[in-house]
Amino acid sequence: MKKTMIATAVALALAGSLNAQNPILQKRYGTPYEIPPFEKLTIENYREAMLEGFRLERQEIIDIIENKEAPTFENVIVALDKSGKQLSKARIWSSLNSSNSTDELRALAKEMSPLSSELSNFINMNEALFAKVKHVYDHQKEYGLDKEQASLLEKTYKGFVNGGALLDEDQKKELAGINLRLSELQIQFSQNLMHDTNNSYVIVDKVSELAGLPEENIERAAALAEKTGNPGKYAFNMQRTSCNPVLQYCSNRELRKKVYLMYNDRCNHGDEFDNKEIAREIITLRLRRARIMGHGNYAEGALETKMAQKPENVYALLDQIWGPAVAKAQEEIQDIKAMMKADKVKGQPQRWDYMYYLDKAKKAKFNVDDAQLSEYFEIDAVQQGIFYVANKLYGLSFNERTEDYPVYEPTAKSWDVIDRNGNVIAIFYSDYFPRDGKGAGAWCSSFRGQSYDGAARVQPIVMNVCNMTLPSEGKPALQTLDNVETMFHEFGHALHSFFRNVHYSGVSSVERDFVELPSQINEHWAFEPEVLKVYAKHYKTGETIPDELIEKIEKSSNYGQGFATVELLAAALVDMDMHTLTEIPEDFDVMKFQAERLAGRGIPVQILPRYSVTNFSHSIGGGYSAGYYSYIWSEVLDCDAFQAFKETGDIFNQEVAERFCKYVLTPRGISKGSEMYQEFRGRQPEVEGLLKNRGL
Ligand SMILES: [Zn+2]
Repeated sequence: MKKTMIATAVALALAGSLNAQNPILQKRYGTPYEIPPFEKLTIENYREAMLEGFRLERQEIIDIIENKEAPTFENVIVALDKSGKQLSKARIWSSLNSSNSTDELRALAKEMSPLSSELSNFINMNEALFAKVKHVYDHQKEYGLDKEQASLLEKTYKGFVNGGALLDEDQKKELAGINLRLSELQIQFSQNLMHDTNNSYVIVDKVSELAGLPEENIERAAALAEKTGNPGKYAFNMQRTSCNPVLQYCSNRELRKKVYLMYNDRCNHGDEFDNKEIAREIITLRLRRARIMGHGNYAEGALETKMAQKPENVYALLDQIWGPAVAKAQEEIQDIKAMMKADKVKGQPQRWDYMYYLDKAKKAKFNVDDAQLSEYFEIDAVQQGIFYVANKLYGLSFNERTEDYPVYEPTAKSWDVIDRNGNVIAIFYSDYFPRDGKGAGAWCSSFRGQSYDGAARVQPIVMNVCNMTLPSEGKPALQTLDNVETMFHEFGHALHSFFRNVHYSGVSSVERDFVELPSQINEHWAFEPEVLKVYAKHYKTGETIPDELIEKIEKSSNYGQGFATVELLAAALVDMDMHTLTEIPEDFDVMKFQAERLAGRGIPVQILPRYSVTNFSHSIGGGYSAGYYSYIWSEVLDCDAFQAFKETGDIFNQEVAERFCKYVLTPRGISKGSEMYQEFRGRQPEVEGLLKNRGL
């Protein structure tokens, strides 16, 4: 608490002595499209701009409260929506803290977190402000609001209620304390996870222990060993790009076991980076917060504003898919047993055998060779394929800017996104390669969201950040089918941001279980034969992928879906189970809970959830708490939506594409997800498409 007060004092003291040279504090950067001049920005610039942002936003709120005129939609709701512009502008570093993290940025995140909580508490629990908001809400009929304005009002009012505006004094105080503690814990959770992902290694002495591992992975392991002070050896960290190939290709069972356990047990080693106790405290505080808000459990409150609405609806969907998925996984395990027998390996298949033998079984069944396939998926070609689809569907074209746009990272590329009329509607950064300081996984975020400046639409600055396979000696960056799918996925999110066209930033968020629809539907085009023929060219010969390989991709694409679906559902179920608890004992052991719940549902012993609780950043780190189910929920939507194209016999059907763009991509957050879907499809989604798509 004390720290917060001191920091606030610093913020206030700073107000009088701003650095006149700080680019973030200038009215304009003077760069093309006002892209932040990344190379020029220092940690001190960010820090100062944030502190000034906190001060300004607080002042803007006070001005709204002290306005003597009668409350109106304009002078309360719109004024609130407009407040905090400086703070959002200053937050560029927060995206960089995920893609290019440094000790300095991490320290800044830690320093800013309590200040952010303090400001949101000041706003959310401000009685005078809420009285004005409530006045407008209660008199909304008088203002003749259009749909977007009505949505802004609704979201603003609900935001206050969910933030505790209707609570009494004691409850408000307790809630503020909980929020502060939660934000500290979530940051600690993520930082521990980043440590155990990037800085825990399995070191191998001899190359003979790596039999089966592709040459480029061996080279990379040698380079990583060199870098970590183990020259002449081979090192693997816990990034999926580093450790997954071991699990998939290495015949060395002991090594697979070591890597598997280290990956799945990230932040579960009982050391200073252990997340068990942090996770327990987080879910305990979330439950306490839910109780204060009058909910039976955390999930109940979290789902109220989602498409799913209630935990029962989530469980109904997950349970419907769980049975067929487990049955499919059992079939796969039989195949694995047969492969192990042929390999003369004794005993039952273990978790570290699954990927390796499943891959072998797939090769035997369908005669597919991943290494051969990846030769057709060089990363720049894939990117061209992604652009081709966006062009055919939505008329977009992409112009690379090599010289004149600021770069936050030399290996990232910047692009103008141009619509049919020749207008630049967005700036896009593609940042595909792993490096130190980049978080694991893949995501889409933005340096600036779309907005309006008067009548002019301000273009969003959107980035796709991934950890794709790097080039290796003599070979360009060749990608696996999984990586190709991920690139299409993240670009789907980017499309959603490119087209967004709203006047108030307060309406722009869509339900979390709807937000994966644009990303996941975009994956469907990746492996359509007519699309593959455009972009999948052999990196050496330029030859178009042959029909025979396309057929193999098609036939084998559902193989392994038992495993993939079970590990996804298992994570979603544990996430729901933790967040529907109504009591959490002091000695609650999150890992024991995970194991018990899944065993109770009959999970095959060879499969663990895609993330274990101690490294489940979606659920515990925040963002997707009681929300990991969203991926599968959205998949019901995307499979059903893609059928709308398929049904016409043309995957680029312009009429359907236009409807999708108009009703799903553009109005981001103005309507509810179920309404947008209804407008696009003319009916609600059906689950059959998903079951068929996963071959269940
Ligand atoms: Zn996504």
